Amino acid sequence: MKNINFKGKKVLIRVDFNVPFNGQMEVTDATRIVAALPTINYVLEQGGRVILMSHLGRPLKKLMDDGSINVEKFSLKNVVPTLSEKLNRSVAFSENTVGEDAENLANNLSDGDVLLLENTRFHKGEKTGDVDFAKQLARLGDIYVNDAFGTAHRAHASTAIVANFFSDENKAPGFLIEKEMLNANKVLNNPAHPMTAIVGGAKVSDKILLLDKLIDSSDNIIIGGGMAYTFFKAMGGEIGNSLCEDDRLETAKALLVKAKAENTNIYLPYDSVIADEFNANARVKIQDSDKIPTGWMGLDIGPKAIETFSEVIKNSKTILWNGPMGVFEMDAFAKGTKSIAHAVADATQNGAFSLIGGGDSVAAIKKVGLADKVSFISTGGGAMLEYLEGKELPGIKAVV
Ligand code: AMP
Repeated sequence: MKNINFKGKKVLIRVDFNVPFNGQMEVTDATRIVAALPTINYVLEQGGRVILMSHLGRPLKKLMDDGSINVEKFSLKNVVPTLSEKLNRSVAFSENTVGEDAENLANNLSDGDVLLLENTRFHKGEKTGDVDFAKQLARLGDIYVNDAFGTAHRAHASTAIVANFFSDENKAPGFLIEKEMLNANKVLNNPAHPMTAIVGGAKVSDKILLLDKLIDSSDNIIIGGGMAYTFFKAMGGEIGNSLCEDDRLETAKALLVKAKAENTNIYLPYDSVIADEFNANARVKIQDSDKIPTGWMGLDIGPKAIETFSEVIKNSKTILWNGPMGVFEMDAFAKGTKSIAHAVADATQNGAFSLIGGGDSVAAIKKVGLADKVSFISTGGGAMLEYLEGKELPGIKAVV
């Protein structure tokens, strides 16, 4: 962006304003809007005319009974008050995402004006990456900036295809995308050692590529959450009714073999908080993770696991965390995730670089109130996961 002259130009910026709302359609978490401000403000300071576009939810999947779009629920108009407050200036809104009316509004902007377009996903061409829809979007701007890191792993019309209609000098990634890449690269390229990856969450199948890649770069991999039990079963353990992907037992074994060959330490939770029901009021006890009786399930890591994991984390210089250690949404099974969050914060305090990426671990660290005690929290769940897996993200490739 720093090489582009924005003065007097219409700058079409793809942002990620896919934010949550309450029943009155007020924004309840403005993190994504705030994350886009540096790019928007920079263009405004340079005398540009800002045209913002984003998706919001899945309007075409949740049509009204008569088959029409639920505009009230999915309109980006609902974002205008918060955006306007954060930018400290008025924001015009175009009820059409593309077409003559939208083009007229864009053409009538003055330097320093901001126009927000209606939800790109009101058009089916958005998700299919339709070239004609992308061309219509491109007609709205002289310059294209993609700053929607959260959707950079999708080759949608507004995130990637639209870039084909701009010359190399007239397109760029925004500051948020730059920042996300810079921080992810600290973990991916020559991390300070020891490097520890903490991987949790429900399923092994979602994290196989990540684990495979991390075995190459990490000294330690801590595996927690529901996915740990597939590993215990693969090693011949008894896991009762814990979450398990039977079709991934061989994969789990292969990952353990690879880690051993590459001298990467794998830490699985020695013990678990087990429950007799998937329920906040279930009976609970502490049990070795490979000796869980039938009828019981592991829903959090146990005290010994917390101790071992925390020790490893505290001795690390680079930390990557993706996925919770247990069913942290229920207080009875949140202790493991909370304790790990504290260990990551402590290590950061002592000079480690820590990156939290992937939706649920971000929610967890916020819940514990330690969001400002880690080095970087990614705004992109799936996008960060794919970037860490070493995949090329279409939304980034399109503008660099
Ligand atoms: P993911 O999206 O893969 O990071 O998974 C996050 C989800 O995994 C959260 O909703 C957790 O409740 C769930 N989870 C974590 N640990 C367990 C567990 N031991 N058993 C069942 N679900 C779990």
